[in-house]
Amino acid sequence: MKMSEDKQIGFIMCVCTGKCPGFEKMDMWDFINRVRVELPVEYAFIHPQLCEEDGDRFWKDFIRPGRKYMVGGCAANMQYKLFRDAFSEMGLDVKKDLVPLDVRDKTTEEAFDMVEKKLEEVEGENNV
Ligand code: SF4
Repeated sequence: MKMSEDKQIGFIMCVCTGKCPGFEKMDMWDFINRVRVELPVEYAFIHPQLCEEDGDRFWKDFIRPGRKYMVGGCAANMQYKLFRDAFSEMGLDVKKDLVPLDVRDKTTEEAFDMVEKKLEEVEGENNV
């Protein structure tokens, strides 16, 4: 499947308010800047708490069918559950259009490597 408008995947880092001990090992700004500059993403930015009510409002304002969104944050099954309704309301399928990545307890380098590897996997799937 080719992505609409030939855009790359968008990357959003969800930082659990920025106070979650799960992200203490990572230099968040270094990480997000490396992702946006060095990896093939359309953009990369940080959101403080995507699973809160304003996170829902953000999703509904932001996402569009035909695009994929990679989210660095908590466990994949949590993300599927937390974002399912907003994705479905906007006509997206959370299981296909969300690419969740659990980067808790990772260093900047480890998290960066995970994103790079996952992007390669998604690119491989898109070329099937
Ligand atoms: S979506 Fe996950 S990582 Fe983001 S704030 Fe909620 S629990 Fe934390």
